[in-house]
This record gives sequence, C-alpha cells and structure tokens, in this order.
Amino acid sequence: MTTYPHMLAPLDLGFTTLKNRVLMGSMHTNLEETGDWNRVAEFYAERARGGVALMVTGGMAPNREGGVFPGAAGLFSDKDIANHRMVTDRVHQADGKIAMQILHAGRYAYSPDCVAPSAVKSPISPFRPTELDEAGIEKQISDIATAAFRAREAGYDGVEIMGSEGYFLNQFLVTHTNKREDRWGGSYENRMRLPVEVVKRVRAAVGKDFIVIYRLSMIDLIPNGSTFEEVVTLAKAVEAAGATIINTGIGWHEARIPTIATSVPRAAFAWVTQKLMGHVSVPLITSNRINTPEVAEEVLASGCADMVSMARPFLADAHFVAKAAAGRGAQIAPCIACNQACLDHTFSGKVSSCLVNPRACYETEVTITPTKDRKRIAVVGAGPAGLSAAITAAQRGHSVTLFDRDSRIGGQLNLARQVPGKEEFHGLVDWFETMLEETGVAVELNTEAGCADLDGFDAVIIATGVVPRDPEIPGQDHPKVLGYIDVLKQKAEVGPRVAVIGAGGIGFDVSEFLVTKDSPTESLPDWMREWGVTDPSEHRSGLAPEGPQPDAPLRQVTLLQRKAEKPGKRLGKTTGWIHRAGLQMKSVQMKSGVNYERIDDDGLHISFGETREQPEVIACDTIVLCAGQLSDRSLADALEAKGVSCHVIGGADVAAELDAKRAIDQGVRLAASL
Ligand code: NAP
Ligand code: SF4
Repeated sequence: MTTYPHMLAPLDLGFTTLKNRVLMGSMHTNLEETGDWNRVAEFYAERARGGVALMVTGGMAPNREGGVFPGAAGLFSDKDIANHRMVTDRVHQADGKIAMQILHAGRYAYSPDCVAPSAVKSPISPFRPTELDEAGIEKQISDIATAAFRAREAGYDGVEIMGSEGYFLNQFLVTHTNKREDRWGGSYENRMRLPVEVVKRVRAAVGKDFIVIYRLSMIDLIPNGSTFEEVVTLAKAVEAAGATIINTGIGWHEARIPTIATSVPRAAFAWVTQKLMGHVSVPLITSNRINTPEVAEEVLASGCADMVSMARPFLADAHFVAKAAAGRGAQIAPCIACNQACLDHTFSGKVSSCLVNPRACYETEVTITPTKDRKRIAVVGAGPAGLSAAITAAQRGHSVTLFDRDSRIGGQLNLARQVPGKEEFHGLVDWFETMLEETGVAVELNTEAGCADLDGFDAVIIATGVVPRDPEIPGQDHPKVLGYIDVLKQKAEVGPRVAVIGAGGIGFDVSEFLVTKDSPTESLPDWMREWGVTDPSEHRSGLAPEGPQPDAPLRQVTLLQRKAEKPGKRLGKTTGWIHRAGLQMKSVQMKSGVNYERIDDDGLHISFGETREQPEVIACDTIVLCAGQLSDRSLADALEAKGVSCHVIGGADVAAELDAKRAIDQGVRLAASL
C-alpha cells in the first residue's frame, strides 16, 4: 500500500490513461530560445524518467504578435515541427507524455506589435496594444488552432490553451481589459466568445483522441475581474467546446497579491479549484504552492481536484514522483518557492535553473557520474556550499568528511528559516540532513577543523562562509547595537523602536522578523486577510473590499541604506515587490541616501547626501547591523601558507552578492569535477 494512494492513482481520459495524478505545469525556462533542442529534449526526458504523468511545455507562441517577447519560441511554421519532434520522441522513449502550451500574450507581449481586445496598456508593459478588428480576431483564432494542429504533427500528446494569468484569452473575459461593444465585448456571453471559439477550433483541428487542457483563471485578483458565477459559466462552455481537462490559473501577472512566492501558504488556492468541482464533468487540476507529496496527497484526498499541477518542484527534483512512489519522499529535493534561479532568471532573459538543483536546465552540462578514482575528501563548513559539495562528491563514490564548528548543519540557512515567510528553509535543511545520511557523508559537528585535521585528505574544500562586515560607525560599541545573527538567533533582547542598518536581503529579512508576531504563512485565513484575498463568489475577482488588513507591527522599525536608490531594488526581480509591500504594510520607514554619523544614548544620528545635510536623530532602543558580509578565508589562508592546496567555494570564495543559489551551484559543479 502506497503512502500516496490518491496522487499515484491513474486517471482514465477515455482515449488514453495518465499513470498518476501529477502534472508538471508549464514553465518558461528560456531553454527553447537557446536553439539547442537536444538540451530541451533532455530537460523534458529527465522529468519523464522521473515518473510524472503529463508535462506541459513552456508557453509557445502561435504567431509573432502573440509571443511574450520578440524572438520568443513558438510553433509558427511547419519547419519548427522537427525541433519539437526531438522533444516528443525523447519523452515518449522515456514512457512520458507531454502537451504543448499555446500562449498568446496579448497586451502582455513585450513588443510594439502586441494586440488585444482593446487598446488598454498593461501596468507591466511599456507598450499599448493595437485593438484587433474582426479579421484580426479571426487570424488569432486560426493561428492558435493551426499551432494545435502542428503540435499534434510534432508528436505531442496534447495542448494546453493558456486562458489565465491575464494573457490574451483572459483579456477578452473581463471589462478591465475588454471595452469592446461588438460581438466580442459587452455581455459576458460576448466576452467569453473568443476563449470558447478557440477551444472549439482547436478541438476541430486536432481531432478527438488528443488531450486539450484549458487553463482557466479561477480567481483573477485584479479590479473588475471575473465573478465566480462567470468562472462556472466559462468552465461549462469550455467543456462543451471540447476541453479534456481544466487546469487552474490563479491571479493575473499584474495582480498585487503574491500567488506563488515562498511566503504564500502551501496549497493556498486549492479551495478555489474545489469550488468548481461538481460543476463540470471533465477532470480539474489545481495548482500553486504544492511542493511535497504529502501536500499533493492531502489536496487530492480532500476532494479539491482530480489532479495536481506542480511546476517549480520539477526543477528542484525531476524524480519527484518516482521517489514518492518508491517510499523515498524524504529524498525529494524541495522547491522552496524562492524564484531566485527560475522566474528571476526567466524575467532577466537568462536560462532558468533551480537554487536547490543547479542541474535543472543544465542536464547536458552538469553530469554527476560515478568516479573511477575514489578520493578522501574533506569539506569544511556545513552551509549550503559545503553541504552540496559534500553530498555530490559522496554521490559520486568519494569518501567525504564534513566538518562544522556549529552543533547542527545549515549555516546561514538556519538564519533564513527564522524569518516569517521563509518557513520552507526548514524543509531544505531537513533534506540536506537526509541526503548526508543517504550518501554516507561522515559529519563532524562541534568541530573547528584546523590545518592538522585536514592532513591526509586527497582534496580539501573550504566552505567556511562569511563574517558580518564591520560598518565602523562611531559609537557602535553602544549596548543598544546588535548584530543580525544574535537578533535572528534570539540571543538578544530587541526594544520596541529599532533602526536597521543596511537594506540588503538580510536587512529586509531582519525587519520582517522584527515587525511580525505570527507568520501569516502558517495560517491561510490570516494570510488571506493580510493580503485582502476573499472568496470570489462573495466579491468579484476574489479581492476583499476592505483591502489588505495586516496585523499591527510588533515594533516600530526604520530601515536605512547609504545608496540613494529605492530600498530593495536589488532584491529578487519577481519577489522584491512582495518584500517591500510586506514591510510597507507594517509601517516600516525606509530611508535611502543616508550617512551614519554616530550612535549614542539618543539613538542613531544620520544626515543625507554628500554635503551631510538634514541632520536627524532616529530615536531607538535597538540598532541592528546588517551591513553585508566579508569572506571568512582564515582557514584557506592558513592552508595556503603551509603550501596545502584547497578549493574555496561559496561565501569564503566571494562574499559580495552571495546567496544560496551561487553557493549550491558552486558546490555541485566543483564536486561533479573532482
Ligand atoms: P547585501 O544584500 O549586500 O546588503 C548589504 C547592505 O549593507 C546594503 O544595504 C548596503 O547598503 C549596506 N552596507 C554595505 N557596506 C556598508 C557599510 N560599510 N556600512 C553600512 N552599511 C553598509 O548583503 P546582505 O543583506 O548581508 O545579504 C547577503 C546576501 O544574502 C545577499 O547577497 C542577498 O542576495 C542574500 N539574501 C537574499 C535574500 C533574498 O530575499 N533573496 C534574503 C537574505 C539574504 P549601502 O551600501 O547602500 O549602505
Ligand atoms: Fe523552487 Fe527556488 Fe528552485 Fe525556483 S529556484 S524551482 S523557486 S527552489
């Protein structure tokens, strides 16, 4: 008897059967745009080997005007078919199934050629779209149907029609973006005409025995979005038009409510899909922040949906389903929903990967093969860099000993997991622990390794991390001044009024920690109230009329930086706005362009600009230093002085812009090469 009977149950679609209830949701990785289709094929084939029932590709444009950006991959012409055929063949050889997502971006296209139901510019694009005329609308429908036909020719098992997240089809559905007065606008019947027509024409183009998934926006989270009654009406119409499965879309891209970030509770929107259960007879897929087999099983067992979609978890671990099925669930590398290597890369025009798994999208480049030359390897430092180096080296068959002076593994990850909204870091440290045991790494905790301890090893890896930078502010030895480590480890009392020096990732995290009593990530009702999310049956679009209702801040915090730019500008591209909005909701004061003059009994004395104007005293009980990091190279330097060569990785190598993504990437790549 499996632990996950609902998740692993097959799903009979009539003309074909899915081997379990797990869909790998669509992700735009920018892999196709590299033009290296062997690499694309290997990415999907590895996930097919990992046991997922059905995968959906990243969005493929049906025509030039529908591409997310100029040059976005698509299936515009018959000559693209051969490339896609490489992918489908490789997936089928691995006993997998794959559907191609057809994504028309409409006004979200980052292009002056973008088209939409009405000429209403989106807040997330600089381009005003051209309003389509009747012939233009017919062209879009026809191009989408042709792309579906070509997908079948290319060997796909199905298509997913992207009708959510505020893209083209979604733009027709709501008055927010559809101002038309012809048969494509006005009444809801008219506004849903285009999506329904698209499904009909796609079904006609592909025939009966082909999967057609319609991704339907079930809660728009924007002003003037759909009511839930409209969602039900559309779902019924889409089913009648020929959809095989309906997938869930949550929130438009322009919504100011986080929908997939790490601070969103797990399975936070499964209840939305559940509302649609019973209204249609085709299977429903639910989505968003489902990242463990336990959560997937619970969602399915409680009747929220017929299938679950997980996307980023398949970057973190291609073998998610196979490991769960084999009773090795604890070995699944967890997606911590950080977006740092996936969406932040995608939106910066880089190829996606994964913070936890640097092999994601680099399957043909980073290969972990058994070693023919077994070495004794010492790794010093059990933070993310050292842990990933140790585990990867041991996986390859090396004999590895990992030293850390602390009583537990994790390094800076143990600080991150103290921060409200970053609870996923607990699971990451647990996974590292499991993998150390699984791969047989000898772990020596409470051990300050010195040069003598490292004698006799064939290779030494130094991952000793970072030490906090000393900002050298006059008066900083005042008792009200604390370092961020003592604050996050709760080793020091923090008063009610706090100044935080340094508005980098850690300054933001510390501020969040100081203003939050109970993490809303731990309670879905609290999180919904905090962000103003409500039942779309009660309020159109799922927006609470009273707006966000955050808890009162636990402390009065002022967050400062010397740079004159907007605080948080350098945080993650897709998550920085959430951190800023979260602190603003808690009345955190942010000050940029400051000089730190001195600290005394009155508080923190600052001035502004090069000429040190507008002197001001920030009256506070506590000042927390979050002024960045310097490499801890003491052991590496000592070894080098003795003529012992070593590999230095992570923060010990370069402290600037250090994050777990770079640390893990460096650790895995080094160990793959030893
Ligand atoms: P950081 O992001 O480099 O920020 C350091 C802060 O200290 C900056 O605000 C900087 O601003 C200030 N600073 C630098 N030198 C200073 C000095 N001499 N005196 C006073 N202030 C000084 O470093 P961090 O906050 O320590 O974070 C470390 C790394 O962890 C970051 O690279 C970050 O990517 C990562 N991290 C990421 C997240 C995330 O959410 N993605 C969260 C936590 C940590 P000014 O120079 O303008 O004063
Ligand atoms: Fe998940 Fe972060 Fe990896 Fe993206 S980078 S897949 S969010 S762990």
